[in-house]
Amino acid sequence: MERTLVIIKPDAVKRNLIGEILRRFEEAGLRVAALRMLRLSKQQAQGFYVVHKERPFYDSLCSFMSEGPVVAAVLEAQGAIEKVRALMGATDPEKAQAGTIRAAFGTSIERNAVHGSDSPASAAFEIPYFFSALEIMETP
Ligand code: UDP
Ligand code: MG
Repeated sequence: MERTLVIIKPDAVKRNLIGEILRRFEEAGLRVAALRMLRLSKQQAQGFYVVHKERPFYDSLCSFMSEGPVVAAVLEAQGAIEKVRALMGATDPEKAQAGTIRAAFGTSIERNAVHGSDSPASAAFEIPYFFSALEIMETP
């Protein structure tokens, strides 16, 4: 079973979309293995997105990610990483396929409602950034 980290970003939390977004993942067969609401400091957002630190959008992205609460989740399924990426859609909501979460709820390339790990290596960094082993539930 593969695990991936999802974040419901501050724009989506603000618009009361937590349930709708989690519903889409659960409906697609992803199991919620861990779930937490928290507010990132800007420094914590910078640490999470350190891979992008040379990018022009890094500072704005980290301000956005710390502007309000987020919901972080570990989702589990076979092929969870690819499944979540497909359900999210392309980074830019305007280019995201119809029916995806970002096409439905994203409002700009930055404010695109959700994050999902993009590879097993990213997931291996991102999951422990938010959750300890004791907070991740094994299959009931
Ligand atoms: N982002 C942005 N401008 C860009 C590209 C990305 O503001 O030109 C933001 C956006 O919120 C995106 C995040 O930075 O989700 C991380 O970028 P990445 O390229 O990893 O996209 P993702 O993997 O989230 O689709
Ligand atoms: Mg990415």
